[in-house]
Amino acid sequence: MQDDTPAARATDSVHDRIERARASLTGPQIAIAVALVAALGFTLLFVQDPMLHDSLHNFRHSAGITCH
Ligand SMILES: [Zn+2]
Repeated sequence: MQDDTPAARATDSVHDRIERARASLTGPQIAIAVALVAALGFTLLFVQDPMLHDSLHNFRHSAGITCH
């Protein structure tokens, strides 16, 4: 009876999804994925920071906000 409640079913599906993700991704794979995302984030942050700054600067001016 308890298993037929919507809440129990939702909990089961979330649990199943986590179990499936855990089964398809091993620990080292997750570590590599996290490292890749971190490296990509750092690369974008440092390589594109001047570009991003310029585009934000231009955006500010095109929006009518003067900064200098
Ligand atoms: Zn400016």
